[in-house]
Amino acid sequence: MELTAAELWAYIQEAVRASVPEQGFRTWLAGPKAVGLSADELIIEAPSPFHRDWIENKYTPLLENAAQRILNRPLGITVTCDEAPAALPVPVPQAGALLPEGPPPQRPPAPRPYLNERYTFERFVVGTNNQLAVAASRAVAERPAEMYNPLFLYGGVGLGKTHLMHAIGHRIVADHPDARVAYVSSEQFTNEMVSSIQQGTMAAFRRRYREMDLLLVDDIHFLEGKEGTQEEFFHTFNALYDAQRQIVLTSDRPPKNLSGVEERLVSRFEWGLVVDIKAPDYETRVAILRKKAADDNLVLDDAVIEYIAQSCTASVRQLEGAVIKLLALSSLKHQEITLQLARGALNGMLRREHDEGPVLSPERIQELVARRWRVKAEALASKRRTKDLTVPRQVAMYLIKETLGTSLVHIGQIFGGRDHSTVIHSIKKVQEEMERDPEFRRKVDEAWEELRAASLQE
Ligand code: ADP
Ligand code: MG
Repeated sequence: MELTAAELWAYIQEAVRASVPEQGFRTWLAGPKAVGLSADELIIEAPSPFHRDWIENKYTPLLENAAQRILNRPLGITVTCDEAPAALPVPVPQAGALLPEGPPPQRPPAPRPYLNERYTFERFVVGTNNQLAVAASRAVAERPAEMYNPLFLYGGVGLGKTHLMHAIGHRIVADHPDARVAYVSSEQFTNEMVSSIQQGTMAAFRRRYREMDLLLVDDIHFLEGKEGTQEEFFHTFNALYDAQRQIVLTSDRPPKNLSGVEERLVSRFEWGLVVDIKAPDYETRVAILRKKAADDNLVLDDAVIEYIAQSCTASVRQLEGAVIKLLALSSLKHQEITLQLARGALNGMLRREHDEGPVLSPERIQELVARRWRVKAEALASKRRTKDLTVPRQVAMYLIKETLGTSLVHIGQIFGGRDHSTVIHSIKKVQEEMERDPEFRRKVDEAWEELRAASLQE
């Protein structure tokens, strides 16, 4: 029997449906479409890069197992997503500074700037905390280099500065497909400059930035104390400003508080408009969570949304982190996202963030796993490769990653200086084994449950 890609995908979806919580299934696995099938590979297309990454990380072994059962032979599953930029609107001729009138410009076609496709105005929730910044960004996007030049956005980490900056870029590229737009972090600017000096390509470096119509420079505070880069940036700034090109800068603090930045630069930063973004208030946090859920096709109860909004007050990034953590937990534990699950999961996470001392530590996780697998905790951290140590060691690595989010490199160090690729391999092994062996899954889930209980008690 020959199956088409769509038929096979439908069978696979049916086969895995029972082993994934309904909510997880609807969120991640119901949406993708089959787009290709060869002898050894089925290609499915996810609705967004976010979905793609998620499915790849969490569901590929499950899907491949199901495919193997259906076909009686191994089949790889590849997840893609349609990342082609949306069709650009027809450019509107405008008297703005960006599109000079007269014969078509002699310049080479504008390279596409790197801009995150999720960072658009449409996806940005306006609240009292960021209202001015949004209004200024929209004004700049609509009439570049006419209103506020430079536009200087500042505020704490994870409050949406980079998002707004990309949104300006998207809008300008959409309205003026010929516009030359560059987005660069100050760190990248510095690195590029240093390597241009080393390779003797400074002239090209200068030309590249000084020919931009829109220059977006993120995290300008990184230039503090870097005199050489500041000097170069000063000239780039002047060249662009004099040519009436738009400049947008972000920083974690206002220009006047940038220490170690030359006065002449600071004063230029203040020539245009300086606006801050503050942490979102409760209503804005709820609105952001609702919007994220809608944009990503996630199903979240009001009670859960309100709980997250009450608990995560520091930044939008923290809100997003909470949602991702809940999704991870729900798919791992095969449970719907309920208020109870949210309480359990976020409690530990928030307490860690509030710096009330580590609730869970890698050492505690090692101890707990060692006890459950009846080995010595020290042996887990050692280089010894005996068979009885391999599995608990992998489980401990997996749990440390999932519960504490410790970096792979750091986990490698904790386990006797192992390489991070070993850590990746170990975590993958545990995930695969959990899909394959329900008994093993139960054991890991119980360990997880005990960790959670421990973190709630403290
Ligand atoms: P910053 O550059 O200020 O550190 P980012 O722009 O990287 O912060 O924002 C962190 C995350 O929060 C991003 O995923 C961004 O999309 C999201 N975000 C921030 N503010 C908002 C908002 N008002 N509406 C929707 N998403 C937001
Ligand atoms: Mg940023």
